[in-house]
Amino acid sequence: MLHQIKGLHHVTSLASGAAQNNDFFTGTLGLRRVKKTVNFDAPDVYHLYYGDETGAPGSVMTYFPFPGAMRGRAGAGEVATTAFAVPRGSLPAWTERLSGHGVTGLQRGTRFGDDVLAFSGPDGDGFALVETEDARMPWTGNGVSEDIAIRGFHSAAIRLRGTGPSAELLRFMGYEEIERDGDVTRFAIADGNGADIIDLESVPGAPWAGQGAGSVHHIAFAVETRARQLEVREALLDTGYQVTPVIDRDYFWSVYFRTPGGVLFEIATNEPGFDRDEDTAHLGEALKLPSQHAHLRERLEHVLEPIGD
Ligand code: ZN
Repeated sequence: MLHQIKGLHHVTSLASGAAQNNDFFTGTLGLRRVKKTVNFDAPDVYHLYYGDETGAPGSVMTYFPFPGAMRGRAGAGEVATTAFAVPRGSLPAWTERLSGHGVTGLQRGTRFGDDVLAFSGPDGDGFALVETEDARMPWTGNGVSEDIAIRGFHSAAIRLRGTGPSAELLRFMGYEEIERDGDVTRFAIADGNGADIIDLESVPGAPWAGQGAGSVHHIAFAVETRARQLEVREALLDTGYQVTPVIDRDYFWSVYFRTPGGVLFEIATNEPGFDRDEDTAHLGEALKLPSQHAHLRERLEHVLEPIGD
């Protein structure tokens, strides 16, 4: 069993519009945009990152907004819900805030004994706020007060036709099964960064998910260093997973592999972080391009949709 993984690093999804996406995560949810860059594999499309003050691993929701992209179709073989941690007692205020911003799909409930508010993102993205104890410092720069502000990810829920092989993979990655609630099995990692929980939801016979706007593209797990990442990569290769070579994503180093349930997993390093090319005080303000696309700046500044500060 591995011991290098420290919880979630980031979750990356698809969107249909950059400005709408930016307004939702900064204006409605109150997260900080910590990086404005492009998809390194398709530089005509933004890669937008939202999180806490520094974009700490375990807080970072990222998006590829493809203008006018068709919506995805919910189903099996995907991350169905991305959940954020909020303080106890804050859900009434969040319900009011989200309905005031026209957010749809609001639904209060209880999961594993915690109060939960489910809601939809601008493209039908499956989100939830979970009331919990969480010592992480929130970003409060966008007008959401500290007593309700998002602390980072609480968990991600993966929906699968059969959970056995993915449960086995999570155990190998260092997760432990801690609880069951109906069709959902909860796994947690010890000594994590706060974003410590993965839920596996069994939906036998459900149609396969179709990826599109509002769908999660991949989910990334945190390792502290490049050395730890190489250890994890070797161990996954030894277990029979097809893992990519290490790829430089400028703000972290990545390897990717497809899991038995069809979900794309990434292992991402905590180093070097989002302040490698911008001061913490100004994270996310300027359009940052990786060196391989720097020569495209003039064209990209023209074709990329303008977004708010
Ligand atoms: Zn990623």
